[in-house]
Amino acid sequence: MLAAVLKAFFLAAVASAAAVGDLSKGLRPKLAQAAEIYTPGTPAFDDAKTRWAANINPTFDAIVKVTSEADVQATVAYANAQNVPFLAFNGGHGFSKTLNNFKGGIGINMRGMKKVTISNERTSKGPVAYIQGGAKSGEVIGTAWAAGKTLVAGACDCTGFTGVTLGGGHGWMQGQYGLAIDNVVSYRVVLANSTAITVSAASNPDLFWGLRGAGHNFGIVTQVHYQVYDRTTPADEGFSTKVYIFTHDALEPLFTLLNTWLRAESRPVELTHFGVLLNIPAISPKPIIQLLVFWQGPSFPRKYSDPLDALNPYSVTSNYTDLAGANALVGSNLDGPNCAPGFGRQTFPVDLVEWSPANLRTVLNLFAELPGTGLDTSAMLLEAYAVNGVKLVDAASTAFPLRHGNILAAPTFTYDASNATQDALAYSYGKKVREAMLAGTGQKLGAYVNYAIGDESNEAVYGYEEWRLERLRGLKKKYDPQGRFGFFERIEV
Ligand SMILES: Cc1cc2nc3c(=O)[nH]c(=O)nc-3n(C[C@H](O)[C@H](O)[C@H](O)COP(=O)(O)OP(=O)(O)OC[C@H]3O[C@@H](n4cnc5c(N)ncnc54)[C@H](O)[C@@H]3O)c2cc1C
Repeated sequence: MLAAVLKAFFLAAVASAAAVGDLSKGLRPKLAQAAEIYTPGTPAFDDAKTRWAANINPTFDAIVKVTSEADVQATVAYANAQNVPFLAFNGGHGFSKTLNNFKGGIGINMRGMKKVTISNERTSKGPVAYIQGGAKSGEVIGTAWAAGKTLVAGACDCTGFTGVTLGGGHGWMQGQYGLAIDNVVSYRVVLANSTAITVSAASNPDLFWGLRGAGHNFGIVTQVHYQVYDRTTPADEGFSTKVYIFTHDALEPLFTLLNTWLRAESRPVELTHFGVLLNIPAISPKPIIQLLVFWQGPSFPRKYSDPLDALNPYSVTSNYTDLAGANALVGSNLDGPNCAPGFGRQTFPVDLVEWSPANLRTVLNLFAELPGTGLDTSAMLLEAYAVNGVKLVDAASTAFPLRHGNILAAPTFTYDASNATQDALAYSYGKKVREAMLAGTGQKLGAYVNYAIGDESNEAVYGYEEWRLERLRGLKKKYDPQGRFGFFERIEV
């Protein structure tokens, strides 16, 4: 019996390897010497395919760690010639279930291209950086900061910078400078037919529109030419932060207060709040509310802390931190809990205009119900970054469809990935929480593409205005007629 099983396994492996052909002869000579090819069953292969969410498993017959744009072109051309699919990856943090549709074919590991260069060039807004397609957000922040610059990057060190940027790119500095996509000067992109092009407002402007918000559908980005900013004032140097913990009874007055911040006509660019609902039985038998409030600048204004202090918090901790420290404060530094791979993870984004205390109460009660089998360590993310810079940009000028929103809410479930029951349970709670967040708002579901779980409609992810999807479908026909980039929130043509 064992012999038969081993034989079947062996035959399957041979068949699958045959699909990608003889890489050592067909592809290796076309790659730079530093590029590497990994095959299944080797530690390097296993290491490269490890992802943030253990329930997301695109399966590869081989992985090519590319080191240059020419390597990317050669790999795409080879995959096309073999008629096998290919998928670029970088930080491995994409968690859309649509990635599980990738079965067999070649993984293109971008981590061999992670150089970040602060250039001597300047635009009218300030200096620019050249960021290779395989850099992680933390690497970009570190290099820019060390050179005296600040920028919009993801609020998490371990995510791929390009992946974040292709979908929009939320971050701590967006109040001042807009989304990451609003800071892209140009992209270098390898298309499905393996040609490499520059994409900017002046060169292939139709694709420039699509890459900024729906970018995973059109090509492999080898380099981003990116706007950064000189740090010239004390406010550029960091954030005064307060971390409040409230017990559940503060929920209604707290979110009513936070709504006054969201609705304020002159909402400050410096003010971000970021809440989390989670179970901490040592503090309370019901989920608690952790509220992080960031003020960009050296001192936290009492105008914003006094009303919070008046709500009788369980605890409050004050701090001052730079941009990298802001990521660490939310547990999203490289060693932080949010970067830990190996867990089952599911996230269900809902874009909102303001808080509904009644809906949040329903959500808090749902989190109180989570069974104590590991799932109960999950968290409800309630992100309300400053949006001034985001709203200054014409909503029609990029494919990002959610500029009207103020809030990125998302239950994020963490659990033992080998437990199918927990996987199904997380999904059912995710659906209930999402429904609860939208109840009575009159809003249709808007789901930030980079947080999407994979069961959303194209409209929910790319916008309900018919012209947006029409334009994206047109770009798809022009730049990816065979649908080679179809594994991450695919635009249906
Ligand atoms: C812990 C955590 C924190 C996060 N924080 C933020 C945040 O602060 N702000 C925010 O906006 N989002 C955030 N996100 C969401 C994040 O933007 C997405 O998960 C994004 O897809 C991560 O990119 P990646 O390279 O790490 O993932 P991957 O899984 O490697 O890639 C995701 C998708 O992007 C494609 N891709 C990757 N690199 C390239 C490239 N060079 N060219 C073309 N396509 C490419 C892949 O093919 C895949 O389809 C966070 C996610 C997690 C898990």
